[in-house]
Amino acid sequence: SLDWVDANGARMKDMIDLGRVVSAPTLEELAKKLDMPVENLKKSIANYNGVIAGTYKDPLGLRATDKDDKQMTEGPWYACQKVPTVHHTMGGLEINVNAQVLDVNGKVIPGLYAAGETTGGIHGSNRLGGNAVADIITFGRVAGIHAAKGI
Ligand SMILES: Cc1cc2nc3c(=O)[nH]c(=O)nc-3n(C[C@H](O)[C@H](O)[C@H](O)COP(=O)(O)OP(=O)(O)OC[C@H]3O[C@@H](n4cnc5c(N)ncnc54)[C@H](O)[C@@H]3O)c2cc1C
Repeated sequence: SLDWVDANGARMKDMIDLGRVVSAPTLEELAKKLDMPVENLKKSIANYNGVIAGTYKDPLGLRATDKDDKQMTEGPWYACQKVPTVHHTMGGLEINVNAQVLDVNGKVIPGLYAAGETTGGIHGSNRLGGNAVADIITFGRVAGIHAAKGI
């Protein structure tokens, strides 16, 4: 149902209203809305269904490994744009507790503050999953306070 709430609290209805998800009753209508060749869209769906059925080997290596991987044969159909993003950078500028950037010798570079993805080492040599948002809010605030005071 369009009112079903997913694990992130999102409803399909809201995504459609926002224009993030495009919906249509048939693949022909969906292709038209997306301005893409309907044959390509149908071929993609057929190939995907072939992978699920075990009758098609995907050249990019898609395999049906999840119990939710099911053949798609009926509308309504939904589409959304997917883009690659950087999940987390592991390195970056070194900062102190005041969010002041340090040089290669560990000395403060006056007037330069940093927080978030531009910094590295806050979580150690790797990242602590789920802590980036706490990191950016904490150090963003610290950087702002110290930059305003000039210390
Ligand atoms: C898919 C995904 C899932 C994630 N899930 C989680 C999670 O569950 N929990 C968690 O804690 N973290 C998560 N993260 C990581 C977290 O979202 C990021 O670490 C955090 O948003 C980084 O914030 P930031 O302000 O440092 O950088 P950004 O959010 O990247 O902000 C940088 C800003 O600078 C702007 N900018 C860039 N260049 C310029 C320029 N030259 N001039 C002006 N502006 C510029 C950009 O447009 C952008 O708005 C996730 C990240 C991704 C991609």
